[in-house]
Amino acid sequence: LSDRLTSVFSSLRSKGRLSDADIDATCREIRIALLEADVALPVVRDFVSHVKERARGAEVSQALNPAQQVVKIVNDELVQILGGETRRLRYAKTPPTVIMLAGLQGAGKTTLAGKLARWLREQGHAPMLVAADLQRPNAVQQLQVVGERAQAAVYAPEPGNGVGDPVAVARDSIEQARRRQHDIVIIDTAGRLGIDQELMRQAADIRDAVSPDEVLFVVDAMIGQDAVTTAQAFMDGVGFDGVVLTKLDGDARGGAALSVRHITGRPIMFASTGEKLEDFDAFHPDRMASRILDMGDILTLIEQAQRTFDEQEAAKMAGKLVSGDGFTLDDFLEQMMMVRKMGPLKNLLGMMPGMGQMRDQLNQVDERDLDRVAAIIRSMTPGERQDPKIINGSRRARIARGSGVTVTEVAGLVTRFFDAQKMMKQVAGGMGIPGMPGGRK
Ligand code: GDP
Ligand code: MG
Repeated sequence: LSDRLTSVFSSLRSKGRLSDADIDATCREIRIALLEADVALPVVRDFVSHVKERARGAEVSQALNPAQQVVKIVNDELVQILGGETRRLRYAKTPPTVIMLAGLQGAGKTTLAGKLARWLREQGHAPMLVAADLQRPNAVQQLQVVGERAQAAVYAPEPGNGVGDPVAVARDSIEQARRRQHDIVIIDTAGRLGIDQELMRQAADIRDAVSPDEVLFVVDAMIGQDAVTTAQAFMDGVGFDGVVLTKLDGDARGGAALSVRHITGRPIMFASTGEKLEDFDAFHPDRMASRILDMGDILTLIEQAQRTFDEQEAAKMAGKLVSGDGFTLDDFLEQMMMVRKMGPLKNLLGMMPGMGQMRDQLNQVDERDLDRVAAIIRSMTPGERQDPKIINGSRRARIARGSGVTVTEVAGLVTRFFDAQKMMKQVAGGMGIPGMPGGRK
C-alpha cells in the first residue's frame, strides 16, 4: 500500500484543494488497501462511499495536502466505526456478572477465558471459569490447566459421568459462584469447525439458562473474509454484545475487525495477541485502523503536522508562497521554528512518503545548523531580513560578529535563502512544510 499511496501523494501534492478527482484517486487506493486487509467487499463499498461523501463536504485544511486530508478522513472514519472509545465490560448490579464466550472451534475461547480471568483478577475481581464445552474430549482438562495458570477457580462436571449436559453445568455454576463468592462467571462453550445448527441451539440454550450480562463473540482475526458469515451466523443464532479478536499476533491485517463491526454493529472489546495469558489487552480502535491501512507512520506525520501548524499562520504563509517574492528571511526563520516544533527533523523527514530522492540531502541537515541559522537571522536588522540583497561586506561582518559565526557562514545562509525562495516558487502551495533550510555549508 505504502508504495502506491506514495505515488498518489506525489501526484496530488501540487494541488491546493480537494477536488473530486483527488478524492476518487485516493479512494481507489483505499479500496484496494481495504481489500488487501481482508475487509469484506460489501463493507468496503459502504465504507468507501461514506468516506467520499465526507471528503466532498470537508473543509480544505491548510496544513495538509489533499491526499493527506483524504487519508486522514479515512483514518478518522475507521477509528470511529471500530468503536471510538473502547467499551468496557458491563458488570451486573447483583453479582455474579455472567460472561459467556461463543465462537467457532479454535477461535481461542478457552485461551481467552484464562486471559480474561487473569485480567479481572488483577483488577480485584474473583472470577470463576465454567467448563460448558463438553464436546471435545480434552476441553474440560484444557480449561482446568488454563484456570490453574490464571489462578482462577474452575467449575466443571464430575469426571466419569459420561457426557454431561452443558446447559445444566452452566446453570448450576451460577449458584456455585454465588455460594463461593465469585463475583464474575466466565462460561466457556463448545465450538464447531463450521457453523452448524446444533451448536447454535446449544449456545442459545446456555444463554437462556444463565441470562449473561455479556455474550462475547470470539473470532480469529486470521479468518479474514469468512469473518462476515461467521459473525452473521452467531448474531442470528445466539446474539452477542461484544467481540473479541484473537490471533492478532499473526500477520492478519485486521480486516475482520472492520467487517464484524460493520455487519453486526457490536463493539470490539478485547484483542488477543498470543498464546500466553498476558498477551491480551483492551481493543484500541486507533491501532487497528492504522494496522488495516498499514501506514502508521504517515498517520503520525499527519497528526503532528495538524497539531503544530497554526492554520492561520499556514494560510498567511501560503499566500506569500504563491507570490514567492514576499517570502522573507523572517518567514524563513518562522517556518524553521515551526518545523522544529514538530519534532526531530530527521524523524519527520523519515516519515514523509515520497521523500526518497530528497532524503539523502535532507539527512545532512543538522539540528545545530538550524540554531546557527536562527542566530544569524536574529542578528540582522528588519530591513536586511525583508530584503537580503542589501547585505554587503560590512553588513555581513556585523552580522557575523553579532551571531558568533564566520562571514562565510553568513554569506552561505543568504545564498541558501535565495535558493529556498526560488524553490518556494516552484513548490508553492505544495506540501505545507516549505522553507526547510536544506543542504550544508
Ligand atoms: P477454542 O476452541 O475457541 O477454545 O480455542 P482455544 O482457546 O483452544 O485456542 C485454539 C488455539 O489457538 C490454541 O492452540 C491456542 O493456543 C491458540 N490461540 C488462542 N488465542 C491465540 C492468540 O491470540 N494468538 C495465538 N498465536 N494463538 C492463540
Ligand atoms: Mg475451547
